[in-house]
Amino acid sequence: MIQKNLERIEERLEAACIRAGRRREDLRLMAVSKTQPVEKIQEAYDAGLRLFGENRVFEAAEKFGGRFPEAELHLIGHIQRNKAQKAVEIAECIQSVDALRTVNALDRYAAEIDRKVAVLIEVNTGGEVAKQGVRGEGELRSLIDTILESRYLELRGLMTMAPFTDEVAVLRRCFHSLHTLRQKFSESYGNSHFEVLSMGMTNDFEIAVEEGSSLVRIGTALFGTR
Ligand SMILES: *Cc1c(COP(=O)(O)O)cnc(C)c1O
Repeated sequence: MIQKNLERIEERLEAACIRAGRRREDLRLMAVSKTQPVEKIQEAYDAGLRLFGENRVFEAAEKFGGRFPEAELHLIGHIQRNKAQKAVEIAECIQSVDALRTVNALDRYAAEIDRKVAVLIEVNTGGEVAKQGVRGEGELRSLIDTILESRYLELRGLMTMAPFTDEVAVLRRCFHSLHTLRQKFSESYGNSHFEVLSMGMTNDFEIAVEEGSSLVRIGTALFGTR
């Protein structure tokens, strides 16, 4: 089941890359395994997937602890301060950083265990009030400055979640705006801090690829409905 779904996703990624004049190697596919049991993750792992995304820290720790030796685990959900310690223990990358207090908590716990952790800043590109993510450019810059001061957090790029809609123009505008921000920040802070552009989910990943995504986060199309 997962193997078949993966093949279909690969075909669609391939086609989107061709349309955009991009290379498939420049794009990573993340299996979003939130709410999926260990057996399903094992199936995805056996199908060759190595990059996994979870949105709950303790659920992730339980499912991934001691298993899947080659898996790279990213956290993609909101990080509450009281989960920050566990988050830096288990994740290779935290994609959903959107507040100074989170940065400070992650930095402190990473320092305690002397572990470097990659982070992405989550940007609210859709302007939805209920959604997570940093909104203004000023707030973004102060977050970037704080992360760059940390010896333990390594800024790698930006992440966004577009609104849930079928309006292609809306989705394209969100992804395009994240790409534009990346260009701008790369110029002022250096490319190496902005290599990752994490955007695109089941509903919209082809558009995200066309707009320059470097990492798509796929749950439903891979595992089925949650
Ligand atoms: C759940 C989730 C995904 C995957 O969503 P699907 O629509 O199931 O592909 C991607 N990114 C984030 C941040 C998520 O929470």
